[in-house]
Amino acid sequence: MQGINGKILKVDLSNKKHSVDTHGENFYRKYIGGRGFALYYMFQDMDPEVYPLSPDNMLVFSTSIIVGAPGPAIPRLIVCSKSPLTGGFGESEAGGFWAPELKKAGFDAVVITGKADEPMYLWIKDGKVEFKKANNLWGKETGEVQDLIREQLGDDKVRVAQIGPGSENLVRYGNITNDLGHFNGRNGLGAVMGSKNLKAIAVRGTKSLEIADKKRVQEINRWTAREGMKIPVAKNLHEIGTLASVRSNYETGALPTRNWNKGQFTEVEEIDGETWKNTIGKEGKGCYACPIRCKRVVEVNENSLVVDPKYGGPEYETVGSLGSILEISSREIIAKANEMCNKYTIDTISTGMTIAFAMECFENGLLSQDECDGLELNFGNQDALLPLIDKIVNRDGIGDLLAEGSLRAAKKIGKGSSKYVHQVKGQEVAMHDPRVKTGVGLQYALADYGADHMKAAHDPFYANQTSYGIKTTKPLGIYEPVDPFSVGSEKVRLFMILDIYWTMIDMLGACCFGFVPRGPVPLNMLIDLVQAVTGLDISLKELMDAAERSIDMAKIFNLEAGFSKKDDVLPERFFENFSDGPLKGKGAIDREAFQSALELRYEMMGWNPETSRPKKSKLIKMGIEWILD
Ligand code: SF4
Repeated sequence: MQGINGKILKVDLSNKKHSVDTHGENFYRKYIGGRGFALYYMFQDMDPEVYPLSPDNMLVFSTSIIVGAPGPAIPRLIVCSKSPLTGGFGESEAGGFWAPELKKAGFDAVVITGKADEPMYLWIKDGKVEFKKANNLWGKETGEVQDLIREQLGDDKVRVAQIGPGSENLVRYGNITNDLGHFNGRNGLGAVMGSKNLKAIAVRGTKSLEIADKKRVQEINRWTAREGMKIPVAKNLHEIGTLASVRSNYETGALPTRNWNKGQFTEVEEIDGETWKNTIGKEGKGCYACPIRCKRVVEVNENSLVVDPKYGGPEYETVGSLGSILEISSREIIAKANEMCNKYTIDTISTGMTIAFAMECFENGLLSQDECDGLELNFGNQDALLPLIDKIVNRDGIGDLLAEGSLRAAKKIGKGSSKYVHQVKGQEVAMHDPRVKTGVGLQYALADYGADHMKAAHDPFYANQTSYGIKTTKPLGIYEPVDPFSVGSEKVRLFMILDIYWTMIDMLGACCFGFVPRGPVPLNMLIDLVQAVTGLDISLKELMDAAERSIDMAKIFNLEAGFSKKDDVLPERFFENFSDGPLKGKGAIDREAFQSALELRYEMMGWNPETSRPKKSKLIKMGIEWILD
């Protein structure tokens, strides 16, 4: 098998030791990458009940069987662990350059356990591993740290995955960045790194990865650059990026506003994609070998406010969570808030949603100005946003409470404040309203790592016969459109297939924006790419099975970690009608229909509908009955 190293690095930080596991073709075909590798090791060597911020938690940095090849949109670093935010299986993916570099450095994944007795970073170069002291780096922001590490190692091509002060201070939604502008954003996996005193992992590989048919891989990349980029979905991503969603969600009547109390933000013109592009936007960036180059970059140079373009720019999720949801429309303030979250490594979605929760508490008298360290946390108060982020990063005053995430903060505040929290399994919902996309709602409720918008294509891709999803994913068995508002059996089937498919994309280290139905590269070309990299006859069915296997494994991990069927829920707000805009008085999801949909999904997955536990027969079918031991 080509395209892999066959080696997984295991690092014990407590004893400053490392070893290498080798695996053959069957392991790689069965687990393919990402969460597949991680769950294999988590079930082998870790108790699902461990405290997430203890040395016994495992932190896995994974690539896949195709990452590192020069194909389109396959650069992803997948980090998994037990999440300190949800208390269950945690996973987050990032683009960039780090994962391809790890492959070139000789490893397919790094499995980390233990805790260093002082701050340190790992240095991995061409198969060699060193433990380096990082006392001088601790507390510094990420831009400075990357420069210092490259200077110390004498190589400016070193790729650095690292944490900033927010993750060091164990903000429960602390994240991990590589190359300063790419983020393993969700689930608080940066806090796990912080709890291990691990500031960074620097990698450098000077050997090229062996690929079975490099010419074919390059042909697929050239097709994407020339033909794929003519397809509207790719063209839009390149020109406006995800910020196009600001306008489309507003027009639907579902732009998250005022902590989900409204679906319309009156100042939408200030924050829509075109405005960003035409004002403080700069030329976009991309990831390793990817011709789509969809990453936003912004720059501000005002006397009182400077935003450094090296930290990228806000995606739609961030403009929603640090903008409309707080009723803040200043692009400069949102861009600065985004830069702060990025260089101090905290997740923008959870940060914004936790602040929105605090604002609603403040406006309803559940938090006083004194309790907020003198800040007036009214919606729309842009002067409060940057100081509050600073407080969260440093766990200072009210920031210490909000660094715990909205669910834990509500438990401490009490007084009925939990009704202002919108989360699933402890993770704050992303900026997509499930009342207009019920499939996204099913995914929020069912995702093993809590509410997240990157768990399937969204419902509008399957709304009618001419929808791009219907036209491009027939090989998955999707033939008919489904109403975005329905929660009937046809929606359950559609999103079960999409969940498995999306999981497969994630496990392959592929970016959803590269592949149908969210990107230009068709399914047959994806399979072609996998075969050209590996030199094996790997099929779509085999890859989908690997994904389904991992979903079963993560489900069991969560049940063993203490979750139950009761945790597969949707926030109450989405069972209420919209209060404004074109959907005023409409939109509430039918509670009973939604519950029936969940139970149907359990059955379709071969899970016991009473308990949501995968049946033994299902585990045998997927070849993972070994996890029962
Ligand atoms: S589509 Fe965008 S995010 Fe995805 S790999 Fe390409 S440049 Fe990176």
